[in-house]
Amino acid sequence: MSETAISGQELWSTVLPVLRERVGQATFDAVLKAAVPLAFEGGTFTLCVPNDFVRRMLEERHGPTISACLEEIIAEPVDLRMQVMETARPALDLWERTAAAATVMPTARQEFDIFETSPLNPRYTFENFVVADCNRFAHAAALQVVRNPGHSYNPLFIHSKAGLGKTHLMQAIGHSIRQQHRHMEVVYVSAENFVNQLISAIRDNRMAEFRRRYRYVDVWLVDDIQFIAAIEGPASEEEFFHTFNALSMNDKQVVIASDAPPRQLQMMNDRLRSRLEMGIVADLRCPDVETRVAILEKKAEAEGIHIPRDILEYLAKKIESNIRVLEGALLKVCAHTSLNQSPLSLAVVDEIVADYSTSPSEHRLTLKEIVEYVSERFNCPLADLVGPKRSKDIAWARQVAVYLCRELTDNSLSDIGSFFGGRDHSTILYAYNKVSEMVAEDEKVLWLMNDMKSALRDH
Ligand code: ADP
Ligand code: MG
Repeated sequence: MSETAISGQELWSTVLPVLRERVGQATFDAVLKAAVPLAFEGGTFTLCVPNDFVRRMLEERHGPTISACLEEIIAEPVDLRMQVMETARPALDLWERTAAAATVMPTARQEFDIFETSPLNPRYTFENFVVADCNRFAHAAALQVVRNPGHSYNPLFIHSKAGLGKTHLMQAIGHSIRQQHRHMEVVYVSAENFVNQLISAIRDNRMAEFRRRYRYVDVWLVDDIQFIAAIEGPASEEEFFHTFNALSMNDKQVVIASDAPPRQLQMMNDRLRSRLEMGIVADLRCPDVETRVAILEKKAEAEGIHIPRDILEYLAKKIESNIRVLEGALLKVCAHTSLNQSPLSLAVVDEIVADYSTSPSEHRLTLKEIVEYVSERFNCPLADLVGPKRSKDIAWARQVAVYLCRELTDNSLSDIGSFFGGRDHSTILYAYNKVSEMVAEDEKVLWLMNDMKSALRDH
């Protein structure tokens, strides 16, 4: 495709919805919305940003993601430049013209400027949520919360790996409560945003105001709570605990989403951890292939795009473990058709999907890669890791390897067992549980596992 075929504006509005999914709502609102496409010429895409702070944030933290998204769409290398212009106006108009944000609802209470919480995504409703075995329990719990906020399941704690519907389900609760209990103040906030607000409040001496803001809440939806302790440390954890207690003591509903169950959260405060488990804990698992097709159908329908069923099935088969990635691929397929105006063929789709699954952030680890890494890191020969030796060091390295295989891949216990020299699934489960318990009990083990996981993900 020739790059002159698409203007900077067109390219940017195509890439925005994808970027929003990738970087998250908080970052999107904070920095991406403030950027305006200036030009796209000779492979150079120039964004105009309002100040140096936004430029640095975008360049240092999100530059590679933005470039990758642009390149995925035009299938050519892009040189991303930022230009600071004091007069650059926020790209709100442009964003508002794009379908995804057309009906974003404002929050009810606008008086706390810096403590404004995020609007709910209008697409994340119960109607748009496909119910299947992988999420039936969490879905039922969510409906119960809507029926009787603050009184049935409090808190409701939803956890899963990334991209399996936590935010969607949590926001569906928010939408429905707003409809059915109109007097209730529903507040959705990502933990990251909560921490950012807290930091500003401390910096500007506005703690009293910050606390007041959360006192009016009837339903508090806190997303990605793992950020709180993991990144910012005790101050934000304490403030979260404070808010959580104040609300739940008054029978206000709290819903929490997290990438790990409460006992694996890096929270120093055991009381908080056990409080989080006092309501109901529900997980979301990977949907099977029929459910993935149903989700894609719903998504295509919601976007008003017709994609042949064989193509949806093909996508659903190829991308298994993350619905966000699956939807990203669908969007790319759509973008491809609208940009190229050529009919879709499976060959084209295959190219798009192949490209997707090899992108570094979504690289799927194999058992072999994990075991090789552990072997290197523990200085333990690979043959011993999968072999019969039982010395303490080898057994420990093997248990860690099993744990990582289970955490980082979708292989079944028996698949992992056969890889580890034909061990049976209960042996594998035992090893996995043993390390999980240590992770929950011993901070050093927790840090080691997290460190190894992120090293492997960047592999
Ligand atoms: P998480 O918060 O767990 O990372 P999200 O809630 O952001 O995941 O979901 C990722 C994408 O997948 C969203 O676009 C969401 O609408 C979609 N999705 C997830 N689960 C379902 C489902 N059961 N039915 C329809 N769409 C879903
Ligand atoms: Mg989420």
